[in-house]
Amino acid sequence: MKVKNSKLDQNLMPFSEKLEDHLWFMKLSLEQADLAWKLQEVPIGAVIVDSKGEILARTHNLKETAHDACGHAEILAIQEASKKLNSWRLNDCRLYVTLEPCPMCLSAIGQARLSQVIFGAYDRKGGAISLGYPLHNDQRLNHRFSVMGGVMHFECSKQLSDFFKQRRASHGSV
Ligand SMILES: [Zn+2]
Repeated sequence: MKVKNSKLDQNLMPFSEKLEDHLWFMKLSLEQADLAWKLQEVPIGAVIVDSKGEILARTHNLKETAHDACGHAEILAIQEASKKLNSWRLNDCRLYVTLEPCPMCLSAIGQARLSQVIFGAYDRKGGAISLGYPLHNDQRLNHRFSVMGGVMHFECSKQLSDFFKQRRASHGSV
């Protein structure tokens, strides 16, 4: 009975508040990150979904492959979703990404008017919020959005540390 009630409550909650949805889309983002790993790219994956939960973009880091400093998963996801909607405005859409966005990406997410970002692992050395650039919440900017970090933190950070471990091993250093 208790389970039934909590299920009902979940169904009454707005789509964006459902933890099971966050976990599902983060899992898809991790799959994207795996594709990056196969290309020997740092494994970072992103997914953009609209307010109904329809997937508009699935992308992964292509910085090395595309020789593009801006080839971060989030930027590519914004481009793909905008192409699909035929609009640069991604209002009411959400972006999932396995690693905390850098300042460039967090700024681009604001430019694209996304409503929410959900990320996995924190990035103490490169993440916008960790570095002290909370661009999603700057009163001087005309678009603000919510950010939630740490969703599937363990899985997301393990994937990255495993990748760097393997890369160090294949380069012959410890
Ligand atoms: Zn970035």
